[in-house]
Amino acid sequence: MGTTYKAVEISAPRTFRLVERPVVKPGAGQVRIRVEACGVCHSDAGTIEGQFPGLSYPRVPGHEAIGRIEEIGPGVNTWKVGQRVGVGFFGGEDGTCEACRRGETAYCQNPIMTGITTDGGYAEMMIAEARALALIPDELKSEDAAPLVCAGITTFNALRNSGRAGDTVAIQGIGGLGHLGVQFARKMGFRTVAIGGGPDKEHLANKLGAHVYIDAKAKDAAAELQKLGGADVILATAPSGSAIGSLLPGLAPRGTLVVVGVSDDAIPLNGVPLIFGGRSVVGSLTGRAIETQDTLDFSVLAEVRPMIETLPLARAEEAYKRMMEGKARFRMVLTMS
Ligand SMILES: [Zn+2]
Ligand SMILES: [Zn+2]
Repeated sequence: MGTTYKAVEISAPRTFRLVERPVVKPGAGQVRIRVEACGVCHSDAGTIEGQFPGLSYPRVPGHEAIGRIEEIGPGVNTWKVGQRVGVGFFGGEDGTCEACRRGETAYCQNPIMTGITTDGGYAEMMIAEARALALIPDELKSEDAAPLVCAGITTFNALRNSGRAGDTVAIQGIGGLGHLGVQFARKMGFRTVAIGGGPDKEHLANKLGAHVYIDAKAKDAAAELQKLGGADVILATAPSGSAIGSLLPGLAPRGTLVVVGVSDDAIPLNGVPLIFGGRSVVGSLTGRAIETQDTLDFSVLAEVRPMIETLPLARAEEAYKRMMEGKARFRMVLTMS
C-alpha cells in the first residue's frame, strides 16, 4: 500500500483538482475504504457549485461510493477488512437529535452528509462511518452498485413504502431516478405506468418493464391516468415543480404523490383534487444504510440494474458536466483502477 492516494477535490466552486493526498488511518467507529467505483449524482452540485450552506473547501464530492474495507478503526466490530461496502448520501446520524431519539434516523437533523460535510468517493480512498455502510452482494459489480446506493434506494424506498401489490403506480420521468423507479415498480408487482416526454421514450419504458407508457408532451398525463382508473401512487422524479403539480388530478381517491426530484420552482397544487378525494403529496428522502442494503439485495433478487456510463476518476469533471447537461444514459459512474 502506498502512502498517498489520488482524489478529485473541489477547491472552489466549479474548480476540479486532481490531487495526491496522504493516506490516513480511520478513527474510532470508522473504516477506510479502497474505492472501486463512485456514481455521479445531481446532488453533487451542492458541493461542486457551492450551493450548500456552510460548505468548506477543498472537499471531495461523491456519495455513491463502492469499495473494499482496507482498515477498520477502534470500536468497529461488525465489519471486516476485505468486505465490499457502499456509502450513500447519509454518512451517519448523530444519534442524539429528536428525530434520532424517535427512531427516525433517516431524518436526523444533524447528519454527516457524504461529499458535503466529509470527503466522499471521487477518490481512490475514503474514510466512512461504520454505521453508514451497506454490504454489497457478490452478484453486483461495483459500478452497477454505485447508483443503487443513492438513486436506487431513493426510488426503491419511496415505492415500497407507498404502494401494495397490484396498485397502479406511475413513474414520472425516465432518467437517472426514473429508469430505476420503473424497474422497481414492475418487480414489486405494481401495474406500472411510465410518464415520459416524447414518443421516443416508449420503447425504453417498455423495456424497463412499464405496462403502459404516457407521452406527457402529446397528452394530459393526469387525464390519461384517470382513464386507467387513477394512480394509487405517482413517483415524481422530474426536476420540475409545475410538471409535478399537474399530476395531482391523475391520482385515484386517497392516492399519494411522492416527490423525490428536487426542483427550483415551487410545486403548484390545486386544492380541489387534493381535498375531494383526500389525496396526499409527500416527500421521500433516500433512507438508512440497512435500507440501502435491502435495495441492493432486491436488485439482485429481481434483476434490477442501473443503466450506466463509466469514466475514469481523472475525468470526473467531464462526467459531472455530462450528467448536468442531461446527456448521461442514465447514470455516470467513475471507476478507479
Ligand atoms: Zn445522490
Ligand atoms: Zn440525529
